[in-house]
Amino acid sequence: MSRRGKALLSALAAAIIAFGSGLITATTAQAAAEGCRVDYQVSNQWQGGFGAAVTVTNLGAPVTSWSLEWSYSAGQTVSQAWNAEVSQSGARVTARNAGHNGALATGASASFGFNGTWNNSSNPVPATFAVNGVTCTGQTTPTDPPPTSGWNPPSHLVTPLNEVWAHQEATYNNGNLYAFRNYGWDQLFANGNGTLNFCVRWDSSASVTATQRDQIHAALNRAYDKWFQGMAGHNAFPYSDVDIEVVGWAVRDRSQLQWSDNSVDIYVNDIRENAPQCAEPCGRFFHQDGRYPDCPGGISRHYDQSLWLTDGFGGGAGGDWGQRMGREYFMNNLNTENMTILLHEIGHTFGLDDFYDWTPTGVTNFIMKAGSSSTITEFDTWMLRDWWRHLKSRYGY
Ligand SMILES: [Zn+2]
Repeated sequence: MSRRGKALLSALAAAIIAFGSGLITATTAQAAAEGCRVDYQVSNQWQGGFGAAVTVTNLGAPVTSWSLEWSYSAGQTVSQAWNAEVSQSGARVTARNAGHNGALATGASASFGFNGTWNNSSNPVPATFAVNGVTCTGQTTPTDPPPTSGWNPPSHLVTPLNEVWAHQEATYNNGNLYAFRNYGWDQLFANGNGTLNFCVRWDSSASVTATQRDQIHAALNRAYDKWFQGMAGHNAFPYSDVDIEVVGWAVRDRSQLQWSDNSVDIYVNDIRENAPQCAEPCGRFFHQDGRYPDCPGGISRHYDQSLWLTDGFGGGAGGDWGQRMGREYFMNNLNTENMTILLHEIGHTFGLDDFYDWTPTGVTNFIMKAGSSSTITEFDTWMLRDWWRHLKSRYGY
């Protein structure tokens, strides 16, 4: 956690390098509605030309195809698109899904990109978007003030919470925290049923009994409960708890796993980062559109995060991909009420920052400040709640 904590930022960066579309954002707009949300970003711009990245999120009933329309106000034209079929008539642009990204479950997204031309003077983001003929209303932008209804932290925490949020906005994702789409929150609401699926990456030569397997599952649930008991009933958060489903185990050698039932999927010797992993076609990190067409067990066997336990690993690391720590630490603390490193790293999965070089005004000991608290404090809980406040409009709340 202290030595390895910076891995959060490198993990975020890795996710963005792998899946981003040039987040040098010149202009950003977001529109939220019951039916759809559209993120339209001018990701790059040069004399005469620009590149844009668009993400369509379906907030309504599942669809099998989509058609996105907008109008340009400054003479822009689309010249070349990928992952969608884009046509233009006058100012009106229509983007239809490509063959592989037409089906969108509730909460699922599809992304496409295009190059276009502009007038070298202004390149405004379209004011409105419509998906399948329905306008996406309720426009917001990342610079809008966040909602204040339902937001009532104790007065002594108002200043430090504001400091933390401003710091995160300034330092995450090249200053565009809101463009990142794989926070733990995004995973939770893509599933839509209050659960998160896990892969255990058993990066160890030790054997595991069925009892230990079940204790690891229980330890994950216990840690998630510690965080999310602070969300139950808070500010329209819809779940009374967050349940962890362990759907897969990844090992080097099947004989290390001392059970024969098929309660979890088992992946043998699929190596990445020199460690066993569950199949990439089933991993959210690799499929942030929420679709898993090549996962053998289908979407119900996909995994959102990995618990990565490595022999001899000191400290911890956490990010959108999950949490990593020493196998010995985890197994030695298997039944500990507060497994401090795991709790800290889950905080990173849900966006919370490290505090190596500064401390918010008036708060001293909290779990995200490594080494200062072994348990989640009131301030930690309010930082988690502040993430919900700033992101909940993404999910229609
Ligand atoms: Zn950390």
